[in-house]
Amino acid sequence: MVLYYSDDCLGYHESGHPESPERLRRIHALLAQEGFVFKEPQPADVRDILAVHSADLVDSVKKGFSEDADTPALPDIHRYACLSAGSAVQAARSAFEGENAFSIMRPPGHHATRRRIMGFCYFNNIAVACAKILNDHPFKRLAVLDIDVHHGNGTEDIFYRNERVLFVSLHQVPLYPGTGLQSKGNCLNVPVRPGTAGAEYLGILKDACAKISGFKPELLAVSAGFDTYAMDPLAELELDLPDYEEIGGLIANLHIPLFCVLEGGYSRDLAECVLRFIRGLTA
Ligand SMILES: [Zn+2]
Repeated sequence: MVLYYSDDCLGYHESGHPESPERLRRIHALLAQEGFVFKEPQPADVRDILAVHSADLVDSVKKGFSEDADTPALPDIHRYACLSAGSAVQAARSAFEGENAFSIMRPPGHHATRRRIMGFCYFNNIAVACAKILNDHPFKRLAVLDIDVHHGNGTEDIFYRNERVLFVSLHQVPLYPGTGLQSKGNCLNVPVRPGTAGAEYLGILKDACAKISGFKPELLAVSAGFDTYAMDPLAELELDLPDYEEIGGLIANLHIPLFCVLEGGYSRDLAECVLRFIRGLTA
């Protein structure tokens, strides 16, 4: 599995914001200690970002303008957002060429809709990557599995009614952003109750994986969030560390070329969650 990461993503922060550089610093340190090596990502081409976002959104990120208090217009955020999106594109290309990959970068992306930045997300990294692959290659179907604890409303917005894409999101309800209460068209939304623990969650994920399998996608994109963890400060699911190995294993068992893109996860154990997930994926 190829891991894409750059220390460049540590360069921005807002004090008190849960989406901190410390998250990534710890993931990188732990994975490096475990012997993993990383490939340096390149920024996304603006044309690839414009394939899924409005010119107004791209302009507002470039000019440092935001109406969303959770997603502030920090200095140079455009550069960081381009690098995170580019990293996802490279992970997708790697998977398409036969080697599974994981883009471990920030900012995250799955809340950014076609026209709106929100929820710590500027550009929808996984959507940029999927749209690029769909555009560049003549294959038929791709699935996106979103296992962040929050609904991937941005990814749904971008791919709704796209017949080449199946979008599956497991998320806590009720919780931010308040969408994803029911499925629509090609978007399968699976609400999960607060307090749900590993065994039940894994059963739900197994059913979701069966739906993905039935769609027969040639590529699988995973929005990998770790805020389903019991100790996460932003949500109320009860997953434990070994559950992430199981999750990785269930996804690997689909036997579909895949790439993952880091989304949320805000607990002190985030790095350990990511490590377990990768072990499950590669076992
Ligand atoms: Zn999240």
